[in-house]
Amino acid sequence: MELPAEVTGQYLGMGGHRYAPRGRVLLVGDAAGLVDPLTGEGIHSALVSGQAAAAAILGAPYAMAEGYAHHLRPLQEVLAFSDRASRSFYREPARGFKVMRWPLLRNLVLKTYADGVGKTKLLATLARWAS
Ligand SMILES: Cc1cc2nc3c(=O)[nH]c(=O)nc-3n(C[C@H](O)[C@H](O)[C@H](O)COP(=O)(O)OP(=O)(O)OC[C@H]3O[C@@H](n4cnc5c(N)ncnc54)[C@H](O)[C@@H]3O)c2cc1C
Repeated sequence: MELPAEVTGQYLGMGGHRYAPRGRVLLVGDAAGLVDPLTGEGIHSALVSGQAAAAAILGAPYAMAEGYAHHLRPLQEVLAFSDRASRSFYREPARGFKVMRWPLLRNLVLKTYADGVGKTKLLATLARWAS
């Protein structure tokens, strides 16, 4: 097997919670920076944003950017939440991983991710626990 002559790294596309679609070019997946900053996962976002772009084009081809922005918003809200969580987590990763060893919190985070991270749902669950 021939080894590649040169291997380089590449940043994952993040920051897409701030992406505002314009005109007739709709960015999806990594191109729109939709990788989850907390987990580094981008397959889910790529699929969701691809479906959102298709729905926008089919729904209103003459206002596709507005339609796409509308369909993309729930995903961007989740990514904005992950962005804030990742800043806190990666500021001091040792502490972040220690906190994630608490079984209750770990289960909650994993379940929330498995169900599709819902900011409102996560906050509601935390509030229920706190009361
Ligand atoms: C090492 C690694 C591990 C990862 N692990 C995970 C994981 O475990 N779970 C997870 O959810 N995500 C993971 N990701 C992220 C995930 O792979 C990406 O977020 C996801 O594949 C993005 O999908 P996409 O369709 O936006 O882009 P891509 O999957 O990159 O698809 C873009 C396609 O466009 C093609 N292309 C580029 N330029 C042109 C051109 N000019 N003309 C024609 N075609 C072109 C490329 O060849 C490519 O096939 C990982 C990423 C990396 C790098």
